Amino acid sequence: MKQEFIKNRIEALRASMKSENLTAVIVTSFENRIYYSGFSGSNGWLVVTPEEALLVTDGRYITQAGKECPHYEVLKAAQSYEYSIIGAVKDRDAKKSMGGRIGFEASNLTVSAFEKVREYLPGKEFVPFDSFIADPRKVKDSYELGMIREAVRVAEEAYMQILPMVKEGVTELELATELQYRMKLAGADKESFDIIIASGENGALPHATPGARKLAAGDLVTIDWGARFGEYTSDMTRTLAVGEPSEKMKKIYNITYEAQMKVLEKIGPGMTTGEADALSREHIKAAGFGEYYVHGLGHGLGIAIHEDPRLKDGEKEVLKPGHVVTVEPGIYIPGEGGVRIEDLVVITETGCEILTTTPKMKF
Ligand code: ZN
Ligand code: ZN
Repeated sequence: MKQEFIKNRIEALRASMKSENLTAVIVTSFENRIYYSGFSGSNGWLVVTPEEALLVTDGRYITQAGKECPHYEVLKAAQSYEYSIIGAVKDRDAKKSMGGRIGFEASNLTVSAFEKVREYLPGKEFVPFDSFIADPRKVKDSYELGMIREAVRVAEEAYMQILPMVKEGVTELELATELQYRMKLAGADKESFDIIIASGENGALPHATPGARKLAAGDLVTIDWGARFGEYTSDMTRTLAVGEPSEKMKKIYNITYEAQMKVLEKIGPGMTTGEADALSREHIKAAGFGEYYVHGLGHGLGIAIHEDPRLKDGEKEVLKPGHVVTVEPGIYIPGEGGVRIEDLVVITETGCEILTTTPKMKF
């Protein structure tokens, strides 16, 4: 089934190449390489022309690439990497078929690699083609949605198992390690990013690293985690309480919760990413905590944990059915503590479907 989707993606790329009069496209980033070929190795470039689809990789991956990428001709790179990639194409006399106008990922090629490619393919015009290559990843197809649902399921299963451990005396690092281990047992390939467990005053750091701090009575504890399942990711956050938090901590929790609910109730197709952000931001501002909401509402997610569209103040991108985005407002008060609540949603024809299901507390 996956291969059918990959075939469609290659055809869509060829259609956008045609519309921009490109004769070939070189795909270099890990995420886009997986998206257009299914190749999960760490090293390789794709060269797509109207007639051909080539995957050039090194000797370690030839067998794997042959298995994973039936729509590609796999070529083995030798010698220095950038030279050999273009060299492998050249040696099989396909250089001509790359034509004169070549699209590439300007945001994913080092200056030195680009210089080598240009040197090896003189007389060609190189055109940054990043958005055409990456934009199709924003709207998820049914295969991708299935994988993301699984990435959510294994992460949530592990979280529910560690919930009884969230009590006085356990360290942040012990909780993070247990969660990571349980996710793998539940079927995750690994965590989709370094797990964040931030207790007490550490909760004021949106991207805290779990450490030796022991959970104590009165703490709010922010747990931000996700799983990688196959080539897809998940991402979610819950804030929990140990014992009875202060009135102020309860207050910022409830404000964050309400801000998140406002977005979840209204987010849908046709709304801009900036408007979605404003739903949460205005609520938190009106409650007097605007200066402590120090990041955007959320981000797209898929093969990468952070990808477009970005839900941020002032952004104008229009949400569409099939976009998978996080909704994660937060309030962080330096020296005191913080709250973040994050759900993962897919935009539907009429609104959104919330993919994450673990319970949230409410004071
Ligand atoms: Zn997160
Ligand atoms: Zn996130």
